[in-house]
Amino acid sequence: MQVIYTPSQWLPIHQKYLQTPQIIGFVPTMGALHAGHQALIAASKITADITVVSIFVNPTQFDNPSDFEKYPSTLDADLQKCESAGVDIVFVPAISTIYPQKPSLKMHFGEVEQILEGAFRPGHFNGVGIVVSKLFNLIQPQQAFFGQKDLQQVAVIKRLIRDLSFPIELIIVPTKREPDGLAMSSRNVRLKTKARKDALILSQSLAKAKALLMAGKSWPFIQNQIKLDFEQNKSVKLEYFELVSSDQFVQLGEFESTLPSSICVAAYLGPVRLIDNITVNA
Ligand code: AMP
Repeated sequence: MQVIYTPSQWLPIHQKYLQTPQIIGFVPTMGALHAGHQALIAASKITADITVVSIFVNPTQFDNPSDFEKYPSTLDADLQKCESAGVDIVFVPAISTIYPQKPSLKMHFGEVEQILEGAFRPGHFNGVGIVVSKLFNLIQPQQAFFGQKDLQQVAVIKRLIRDLSFPIELIIVPTKREPDGLAMSSRNVRLKTKARKDALILSQSLAKAKALLMAGKSWPFIQNQIKLDFEQNKSVKLEYFELVSSDQFVQLGEFESTLPSSICVAAYLGPVRLIDNITVNA
């Protein structure tokens, strides 16, 4: 495994790979790697010949400066995990490498970003779109691996690839969970013991809402029930709990059995913001 820090280190390696037909699989991450990231790497190991992982905490996608400052950093452990997962290249750029200057370009993904993460984290998807475009251009992979955990991000990346004609196949990997159901996230390490227990309400409320939908209850009734559940625990602050179409990412007022849809949730456990989602029908 090689660890590289600049595009000029990647160039000769890339040239060498290009001499034989090989698929380069790319897994962009912000580090603090966990089993969710490892599932993306494992998926790349199956379908690609070369696996490149990037570790870059992208400042431009944080709408909250304290979230950026407190974002966990565990580079040595990350590199060990990459090594044992059989990663070929780890790209760890400095902020000045990715942003020699503040980008003048702004990205907006239309209606996809008018709701949920787009609405609650202004500028977030502009930051995601710009950094992912930069990384795609630098690494030039044939395949890119993203987690279903960030479902709205997947919808954004689909549009980025389509709208800018990136010759890249997007591969979506299911969400990895802790044994008790909590979706794995780099932010989970910031949860104190009680908050870690309280955080279970996210996955549990998604499962409950899905079961109620399958039992024929109306979405407004379910949404109201879940809001009441959240109000029971004052240490958890619900931000949104919405039913959306999984592809168009349009908020739905009622469940339609023929439309692929998902339920998405975001909540604060003290200062830590977590998101999760569940597919209702694929
Ligand atoms: P992050 O480092 O949080 O920016 O995530 C990097 C990639 O890993 C993104 O494509 C995420 O959707 C994905 N990811 C994060 N958590 C999980 C998880 N629990 N299961 C599957 N993929 C995940």
